[in-house]
Amino acid sequence: MSDAALANPPTIVPFLKFGADGAPYLEGQQCADCGEIYTTERMACSKCFSRKPFKAVKLPTTGELYTFSIVHRSYPGIKVPFVSATVDLDAACSLKGTLIDVEPDPNHVKTGMKVEVVFRELEHRNKEGRTYVSYFFRPRQA
Ligand SMILES: [Zn+2]
Repeated sequence: MSDAALANPPTIVPFLKFGADGAPYLEGQQCADCGEIYTTERMACSKCFSRKPFKAVKLPTTGELYTFSIVHRSYPGIKVPFVSATVDLDAACSLKGTLIDVEPDPNHVKTGMKVEVVFRELEHRNKEGRTYVSYFFRPRQA
């Protein structure tokens, strides 16, 4: 295990990274030919089919709610209801996640609402007893 892996907490997705200052961020993979951005590493771009190596880019922390679903049934131990959201990150890609800090009620959640990415420690721990870090969306203050 590298020093960075020991210093940084485990993450829930591989594209959640930590900067030299320890601050978390989301990393995308950008097509060298058309500029399309993805959250996963891939062999070729699905938009232009380029096979050139992708460039790692820091994803923006702001976006708009594209669509959502209010989840009332989930795995044991997961608090419900919660808002499962798909967000269009500004000038980047779409990303699924959980929308927090809002009533899980359609009267309080609106498509097109401005959101931001925030990072939180989860209650879940890995085998070493370390808590995981994940990303969430929350409504953005104007
Ligand atoms: Zn492309």
